[in-house]
Amino acid sequence: MSASPVSVPSPSLFEAVVGQERAVGRLMDAARRPVHAYLLHGPAGSGKRAAARGLAAALLCPDGGCGVCNSCRRALAGTHPDLVTVERSGAALDVDDAREITSRAQRRPLESSRQVLLVPDVHLAAKVAPALLKTVEEPPPSTVFVLVADDLPPGLATIVSRCVQVPFVAVAPRVVEEWLLGRGVAAEVAAAVAPASGGSLDRARLLAEDSGFDARRRQWHAVPGRLDGTGATAVVIADELLGLADGALTPLRERHGRELAALEEQAEAVGSRGIPGRRAVDERHRREERRWRTDDLRMGLAALADAYRDRLVATVDGDATPGTPGADAERRTAAGHVDAVVRSSAALGRNVREDLLLESLMVELSGMLQ
Ligand SMILES: [Zn+2]
Repeated sequence: MSASPVSVPSPSLFEAVVGQERAVGRLMDAARRPVHAYLLHGPAGSGKRAAARGLAAALLCPDGGCGVCNSCRRALAGTHPDLVTVERSGAALDVDDAREITSRAQRRPLESSRQVLLVPDVHLAAKVAPALLKTVEEPPPSTVFVLVADDLPPGLATIVSRCVQVPFVAVAPRVVEEWLLGRGVAAEVAAAVAPASGGSLDRARLLAEDSGFDARRRQWHAVPGRLDGTGATAVVIADELLGLADGALTPLRERHGRELAALEEQAEAVGSRGIPGRRAVDERHRREERRWRTDDLRMGLAALADAYRDRLVATVDGDATPGTPGADAERRTAAGHVDAVVRSSAALGRNVREDLLLESLMVELSGMLQ
């Protein structure tokens, strides 16, 4: 019944990985002649975990990754007994997690000729890196490490140097858009969400489900028509826009709430009082909220720049004869608006105060009115 051994893993193992042709190519090569450890790293939401499961399927399948057998199916679903995933027990990987990884690495495979040890969130392992180093650089021959990290902090440098690295990139907006369309998201929503996703399928999915997203974008788009040349209106609008960014946090906060609930349940199950490392979890959540808020402001500024670009096109197509002084002045003003918005967007995230940034932008745009 079993087909003759295939040397090339089936591309279907990686069909859940979107817009990562180079990384997938490397993993397909890796599956044929595996070494002891791989490190898949790149932005959150870029498909690293799905890719890790695809690689595991290829390494565990008796036919080198046929994509259809029971072994492949269970590896892709994460239920294969020789695909061992060690999730961190607290906010970061701690000594207990490191101990579990080390002891799991020594275990013999149950079904397959090898076992795959998948460790997510390795960017949170800097503290225990020294404890992990020996196992990662020299596991038993039947163990293959697949480490996954969002970024590579300096504390990980030694571990990084012991692994074959597989970089993942932020997914291109066009690819995100197609992916959303494929999941039944309305075309208009997909087109709006994709550029605001920052190349993360995860963020794209949250935004597509966020009923307030479209309304926020519209409000930003409407700003040019509301500025009346007075500083008072400019300040009111800046305030409103900041409030919008706060409102955008709702879906993320819901997700954080679910995570805390799950951690609490785990803690109760092992009889621990409260979540271990709770403070660090809260800190990470705050960090994610800040980043999310900044990303949302950036999305808004992009919508605002679009609104001014529309005006620029309108002045070109409008009644004023090109080359006349009036038409040229209008065009210069519209182009100046776009520039000002793009400059502000670039300044975001450079440790500026967002309220002051928005206020001065609104005053500047308002002052450009004739
Ligand atoms: Zn198979």
